[in-house]
Amino acid sequence: MSVKLDQLDNIWKLVLKKIENKTEDRTSFNSLISPCYLESLTNSKAVLIAPHDVAKKILNENFYQLILNELNDVTESNFNLEILSKNEIQKKTSYSSYKQTNNNYFENCCLQQKYTFNNFVVGKSNKEAYDSATFIASNQAKFNPLFIYSKSGLGKTHLMCAIGNYVKNKFPEKKVLYITSNDFVDEFVKFVRGDSDKEPLKEFFRGIDYLLIDDIQFLANKTQTEVMFFNIFNLLVDSNKQIVITSDTPPNLLSGLEERLVTRFAQGLTVSIDKPEKATLIEILKMKIKSNGFNPDIFEDDALDYLANSFSNDIRSLEGALNRILFFNVTSNNLDNITLEIVKQAFNKENEHVKKGEKITAEKIISVVSRYYNLTETQLLSNVRTNQISLVRAIAMYLCRSILNLSTTSIATSFHKKDHTTVLAAYKKVDNLLKTDDAMKKAIKQLTNQLKA
Ligand code: ADP
Ligand code: MG
Repeated sequence: MSVKLDQLDNIWKLVLKKIENKTEDRTSFNSLISPCYLESLTNSKAVLIAPHDVAKKILNENFYQLILNELNDVTESNFNLEILSKNEIQKKTSYSSYKQTNNNYFENCCLQQKYTFNNFVVGKSNKEAYDSATFIASNQAKFNPLFIYSKSGLGKTHLMCAIGNYVKNKFPEKKVLYITSNDFVDEFVKFVRGDSDKEPLKEFFRGIDYLLIDDIQFLANKTQTEVMFFNIFNLLVDSNKQIVITSDTPPNLLSGLEERLVTRFAQGLTVSIDKPEKATLIEILKMKIKSNGFNPDIFEDDALDYLANSFSNDIRSLEGALNRILFFNVTSNNLDNITLEIVKQAFNKENEHVKKGEKITAEKIISVVSRYYNLTETQLLSNVRTNQISLVRAIAMYLCRSILNLSTTSIATSFHKKDHTTVLAAYKKVDNLLKTDDAMKKAIKQLTNQLKA
C-alpha cells in the first residue's frame, strides 16, 4: 500500500492537531514539529521529514513516541516510524541519480576463479580456517568478520576466493565483492573528493552480501579511507551481511590502524593459517603437478621431499619452484622420471640465467622477476591488477629503484605506465612489506643475488 501526496498532507494535519493538544511545549511544536511533513506511508513504515538535522535529533529523542502514537491513532494502523532530515532526503535523491550513471566502482577487481575449496588441500595448519570458510560460504553461520591471518603465501587469498566462488555458484542471487584493501584505497582516492561522494560509495556497498577484503594491513595510516571503511564495515554488519578479512597479522598486531577498527575486527572469529606440515606440502605439490596436466608419479619421492623441505615456509614459492622445474623438464623433454638430481640441476640452471657480469637494466629486472615468479613479461607489464601480479610488478619496480637508483618517471616508462605515482606507491608497498614479511625479504635477497651474480 502506498498513500498519495494529498492524503499524506491531510493525515499529517490531523496528527499535528492531536499533538498540539497534547504538548505544552509551544516552541518545539512551532519550530520543530509543525514544519515536518510526511514523506511516505508504505506497507508498515512511515517516513517523516524534519526540517533539519537538529530537529531530527530532538524529535527522535523527545517526541518520537508521541508522534508515533498520534499517527497510528489517526491512521488506525501500526506503522513503524522513521524520522529523517531534509538534508538526508536530498542526498538520497542524489545517490540514486548518481547510481544510475556511475556503477563502475571496483570494475577492475575480480575473484580468481581458479581458487576453490576443491583444490585447497586441508591439513592441520589450515583446518580451522578452512572449516570456518566453508561454514560461512554455505551460509551455515555468520562471523563478523571472519578474520584470517597468516604469513604471506600460505593460502589466505586462495581461501577467500574459494568462499566467493562457492557463494557465487551456490547462491547466484548473492552479491560477492572481492577486493584488496589497496583497491579500496585506490577507489576511495579516485571517487571520493568531498563528503557528498561518500554516500554513493556507501550505497554501492549496501548492495553487497559477501564483502571479501584481502590484505587489510595495507589500509594502515590512511586515516580518511579508514573512517570510510569503518562506516561501511558497520553498515554491512548491521544489515547482517558477511565480511571476510585477511591480514598478515592478527588484529591486535595490526599497526597503523585505528583502535576502534581493530576492536571491531577482533569481535568476529579470528583464525590463523600456520606453516604447513610436510604431508600437506607434499599433497599440495601433487595437486599442483596434476593441475599442470602431469602425473605426480613422475616425481620420485625424494625429489618431492627436497622441494617440500626447501620451500616449507611459503606455498607460493613452492609452487613457483615446481613450475620452474616443470618448465625446465618440458623444454628438455624429460618428463618420465624426475629425480632429486634433476630437481637440483633445475635450480642450478635457473641461477645460470643471469650471466656473470652482465649489465643490469630495467629490462633485465623485468625478465628475471617475471621468471622468478613464473609470469610472462607481458603479464608483468600488463595492467592486470590481481593481487599476485601487481605485487610481482611492485617488486620489479622496487628493484629498479633500489638497485639501479632509477627515477620513478623513468621506471614508469619502462613499465609502460603513464603515471610515476604508481611506481612510488609500489616502491612503498614493497618497502613496508620488507619490514615485516620474511618471505618478501627472502625473495628480494634471492632476486638481488641473481641479478648481481
Ligand atoms: P596468501 O594470500 O596467504 O599470501 P595465497 O592464497 O596467494 O597466499 O597462496 C599462494 C599459493 O599457494 C596459491 O597459488 C595457492 O593456490 C597455493 N596454496 C596455498 N595454500 C594451499 C592449499 N592448502 N592447497 C592448495 N594450494 C594452496
Ligand atoms: Mg594473498
